[in-house]
Amino acid sequence: MPEGYCVKCKAKKEIAEAAEVTTKNGRRAIKGKCPTCGTVMYKILGGKATPAPATPPQPVTPQPAKPQGAT
Ligand SMILES: [Zn+2]
Repeated sequence: MPEGYCVKCKAKKEIAEAAEVTTKNGRRAIKGKCPTCGTVMYKILGGKATPAPATPPQPVTPQPAKPQGAT
């Protein structure tokens, strides 16, 4: 049984009815209930196999404004 922290009991509890879920961020977590008070508990399992999404730096090429027809 995975353990999580129950904010209501202010103690570490085994997570009852634990089920693995994937959060919006693509992270895996355990969702379940506190066996004592029934408060929903989450335990983040940390990163999954994929590395952190690294955004490639966008090459910024400033276009200098060239006045056309100016002599
Ligand atoms: Zn609790």
